[in-house]
Amino acid sequence: MKYLLLLMLAAYVLWRWREAQAARGSPPLRPEQPQTIEMVACAHCGVHLPVLQALTAHGAYFCSAAHQKASGV
Ligand SMILES: [Zn+2]
Repeated sequence: MKYLLLLMLAAYVLWRWREAQAARGSPPLRPEQPQTIEMVACAHCGVHLPVLQALTAHGAYFCSAAHQKASGV
């Protein structure tokens, strides 16, 4: 019984030590910054959409190929 307690104590100390090592190795905590997604407006209908989903032609953004075509670009 005595050895079981010692084993549990050793395991607890080891666990705490490993947690401390992991905390030290991780990058310092910084306040959560919300991810920003650049939004652009369709040159034809004005709807806003993420720039990654927009079609671009001659510096203008479009929400769809149909609106790009309708604008004659
Ligand atoms: Zn559009």
